[in-house]
Amino acid sequence: MASGYVSEIFTSFQGEGLFAGRRHLFLRMAGCNLRCRYCDTPESLERTASCTIHGLDGSARVIPNPLKAETLSSLLKPFFAAPGLAITGGEPLLQSSFLAELLRSGRPPFPILLETNGTYPERLAAVLPFVDIVSMDLKLSSNSGEPPLWNEHRAFLVSSLGKNVYVKVPVDENTRDGEVREAAHLVAAADRRVVLFLQPIFSPRSVMQISVARLEHFYDIASTELPDVRVLPQTHRVLGVR
Ligand code: SF4
Repeated sequence: MASGYVSEIFTSFQGEGLFAGRRHLFLRMAGCNLRCRYCDTPESLERTASCTIHGLDGSARVIPNPLKAETLSSLLKPFFAAPGLAITGGEPLLQSSFLAELLRSGRPPFPILLETNGTYPERLAAVLPFVDIVSMDLKLSSNSGEPPLWNEHRAFLVSSLGKNVYVKVPVDENTRDGEVREAAHLVAAADRRVVLFLQPIFSPRSVMQISVARLEHFYDIASTELPDVRVLPQTHRVLGVR
């Protein structure tokens, strides 16, 4: 039986993408293959010896890692009044076999949303049958500091098309016009119906790292390729919640 490393479990309002504003149960998996310069969850980048469960009553319980799938399943059950489960990270697909076992053994009675950096198309297959929504990031070198990942993102998006999938592109003042154009082109080539979100990057002190004029410029560029482009900041940052 597989074991998994969890960073934290909590409920909050979804802050990104198509379902922003809807309450979710968040399962944040530990570990990530990338090190984006703007990462807002640095505590989830490495596997840790324990995870924290933030209860509905405001309590916080620390549980040792790794967790068996059946143990994690029973820890999630008290939260099943939430209208959605968001599996996030870190990068959850680093533990794709574990997630498949977890979801196969006890599927929650509500939609499952996978939040992913979209770089592991080969690992997606194990989890995809259990997922309803794919929230895929598309990382641009200029602001993430990572090498270009166009091929991985392209394959990932194409594999996700059978699901309710949307794409988020974090942008800041370092972002180049050509990157936004290529990102929008990549999405359009896969399926022009996919919604693309331009997501302004915030500093750790919650200061937006891009001007509105620049956002409008990127919106215009992306809109030459796609009919549904949206600009949406992370609403949980605005609300000051997790
Ligand atoms: S992929 Fe996400 S979790 Fe990983 S480093 Fe980038 S922003 Fe952070």
